[in-house]
Amino acid sequence: MTKQKRLIMEIIRECHENRVHPTAEDIFFEARKKLPNIALGTVYRNLNILSEEGVIRRLSVAGNPDRFDLNVMTHDHLVCSRCGRLKDVEIKGVREAIKELTGEDILSYELNAYYVCNDCKNEEVKK
Ligand SMILES: [Zn+2]
Ligand SMILES: [Zn+2]
Repeated sequence: MTKQKRLIMEIIRECHENRVHPTAEDIFFEARKKLPNIALGTVYRNLNILSEEGVIRRLSVAGNPDRFDLNVMTHDHLVCSRCGRLKDVEIKGVREAIKELTGEDILSYELNAYYVCNDCKNEEVKK
């Protein structure tokens, strides 16, 4: 593993511990503190490789940059429609419900539920 890749994994792990789903730019910003010469392209390339290897999960949210998740198990997300931050949430029985409706075995699914997070709600109160 290159030192760039190792550092990127470290940052993603740290984010995961803080329940944060970072964007490539967030990771780039953190990575530069330790490897000032790292290029944004290197961060993107490593994130692509790690996603393809199934080490991390890429999360696509319409109108927002992709975010990355160390938790590759199926779980759902609450997405703040203001700031785009994600929060893990496990909604049980979705797979079974789809199977019941369609009669098909569901391999995987992605569910994003949109809301306004507390930080953004508090911002609004201050205005
Ligand atoms: Zn928010
Ligand atoms: Zn997640």
